Amino acid sequence: MYGATKEQWDHFVSIGLTHDLLPVVSNPNAKISAKSALRSTGKVPSKYYNGEVGGILNWTQKNATDKAIIEWSEQPDYGICIQTRHLRALDVDIDSDLADEIKQTILNFVPTAVFRTRENSKKFVFPFFLDGTFSKRIIETKQGAIEFLGNGQQFVACGTHTSGAKYNLPLTTYPTLPEEDFEVIFNHILEQFGTVAVFMDNKARQPDIDMEDDVLPLLLPHSMGLTNTGMYCLKCPKFDEHTDKEKGSISQSGYFPKGKGGNPKGHFHCSHNHNETGKPTQSDWAVAYNLIDFGDDEPVVEIQAESSQNLSEIQAESSQNLSEIQAESKHDRELVIPRGLIKDTVDWILSCALQPQPELTLLNVISFAGAVFGRRYEYDKFGTRTNMYLVGIANTGDGKDHSRKCIKKLAELSNLSRFVGPDAIKSGEGVLTMLMKKPSVLMMLDEFGMLMASIGGSNAQPYLRSCAKIFTELYSSSSVLYQGGMYSDPKKDPVNIECPNLCIYGTSTQAKYAEALTPDAIDSGELNRFVVLKPKIENPEYNFNVGDRNPPDDLVNRWHKIADSIEVNDLMGGQAYATNVASEYNMNELLIYQRQRKMELQDGTGPLYARYTENVIKIAMVFAISENHNDPLMSSLHIDIAKQIVDASIEFVRSLVKSGIGTKDRREDPLIDEMFAYIKDEKPTKTEICRKFRKVHKVDIDKVIDTLTYQARIKLEKTPGKTKPIMRYVSA
Ligand SMILES: [Zn+2]
Repeated sequence: MYGATKEQWDHFVSIGLTHDLLPVVSNPNAKISAKSALRSTGKVPSKYYNGEVGGILNWTQKNATDKAIIEWSEQPDYGICIQTRHLRALDVDIDSDLADEIKQTILNFVPTAVFRTRENSKKFVFPFFLDGTFSKRIIETKQGAIEFLGNGQQFVACGTHTSGAKYNLPLTTYPTLPEEDFEVIFNHILEQFGTVAVFMDNKARQPDIDMEDDVLPLLLPHSMGLTNTGMYCLKCPKFDEHTDKEKGSISQSGYFPKGKGGNPKGHFHCSHNHNETGKPTQSDWAVAYNLIDFGDDEPVVEIQAESSQNLSEIQAESSQNLSEIQAESKHDRELVIPRGLIKDTVDWILSCALQPQPELTLLNVISFAGAVFGRRYEYDKFGTRTNMYLVGIANTGDGKDHSRKCIKKLAELSNLSRFVGPDAIKSGEGVLTMLMKKPSVLMMLDEFGMLMASIGGSNAQPYLRSCAKIFTELYSSSSVLYQGGMYSDPKKDPVNIECPNLCIYGTSTQAKYAEALTPDAIDSGELNRFVVLKPKIENPEYNFNVGDRNPPDDLVNRWHKIADSIEVNDLMGGQAYATNVASEYNMNELLIYQRQRKMELQDGTGPLYARYTENVIKIAMVFAISENHNDPLMSSLHIDIAKQIVDASIEFVRSLVKSGIGTKDRREDPLIDEMFAYIKDEKPTKTEICRKFRKVHKVDIDKVIDTLTYQARIKLEKTPGKTKPIMRYVSA
């Protein structure tokens, strides 16, 4: 018998796959119909038609019935095809020892995994349940391809291969993978074995970025539904010119909001065929839906279905996305993180946060990496190390401690606790004593604004002032011998620390931080050592569906690997040998930009750029090292993202300074009062404000909104919308 047994058919029915089953003629000697395009038996859904084999047309549309299955199970030549609509599979088309390695890797993640094999080959299929809609993906390796079989595909579960060998698949319950686990495994296999990855759809390619879209609220009243790819269905402006069979369908045209599929740009789409006038342009859509600010026809990154892309293309595309983000107004910027350890760590921390804070989490993870990598890496051209001071603006209370707790747990599990220092400062001397024991360390400090304020000369306790001074010195001493004897007890030995690598992740309220922003403090350059970010959403919504607070094993292992490889020359004093972090980017460009900004800014904030290059390199180094800690290379993408972070920091500080905070002579601007009056009366959305004040540059509008917000005259308020809440500004 070539086909499947009754018991095999029954098994797949019993695990709920009735609709997904199809027959496959498995007799290698069967005659293929002359009218059929089939080339061999045993591989794709097929049946006997008048004694000859033919393929099953439109099989992806079929839903098998119990009755059909009974019929098929009575034909001994029919094997079982499973449509991978619920039970998915990784089809490993590799006939070498590499297949065994991949099998082992899968078993490491999923100990209950079973495989469909056949005797004369090492090729195998790994079936598993996965909810959702997924298109196929292919990982190319040096010895063959690994295909993820998603919707619209199938594999043969039981029967006989063309070669005459029987397929073997244990009749059992197959493991169910949560989507996140699947992505982790897929990415792990890609990273470990793959040379190129091809994704056949946009949903699979990149996770969504959580972004606010100010165009969407204007479109919602017109939308006729939401597709599972995240598109809001809208009638195509060229609806009457559709020429394809399904031209009347409205589910194939609409709007993808910002961040959908990892694309930071909102865009319209219509997948119908159109007559000779072609597809509607973005401005056709904008006109049709009366969108004033959307009308420029700049190119939109659209992920073509069924197009193949290799990794470098995907990377090139993501850096293209990045420059688009940068072209947008600063306030609409979203942080993009390069794929890899840093991003995966951030993603885990966010997944288990009750109030996810992406910006704070990113800073926290980068500073942790800076400590872990510390003293071992250097950009030797400038002697730059990975010590850095990062500050997140956060309200007191809610959610800001979450990332600290996660980092501590991760450090503990991955044997990196020695890089985590105490979370409070008692004295400047204490910091130095700690560094003598742990010369590379992360301090995660709450209420860091008190220390910042002491830089601004506010009435702080003296120990804060001395800490600030020590931090200032340490920042510049990470590649030399630091001698801080004057701070310690004269009776004790002088403090000598070779290449101290102090990383700080602090949180502060905006008001407290603003106390640091005196003209003197800015001039002195102390402030420019700190990279400060304010979250785009200060009070994120609760995520009641929090994930596992324990880091995934894979993440722990990857950090642990780093711990193992840095054992040798860390911690205790002595000249620390550092690996050079190479760069494919011309850092002179950063220096030129830094100098230019310092000189051209007439408002007293020029000194904020004095450490621009240094801070960008530090952050880029962390991305590069986390990507390849043996041979790190800062790519243009790493630099771009680091620039984005440092730029956002300086812009934020400048906006505070410009709105008069920290300085006595607050600039009066009639626009401030005018906009306040408008907001008070109209409770407008951001888009409505921009439309009303169309003549004012968007950057200036943002500044005024900042000022009013800081002055507590206005606030953002969530109001119910048609399908989704709308954010409006109201008087506070
Ligand atoms: Zn259309």
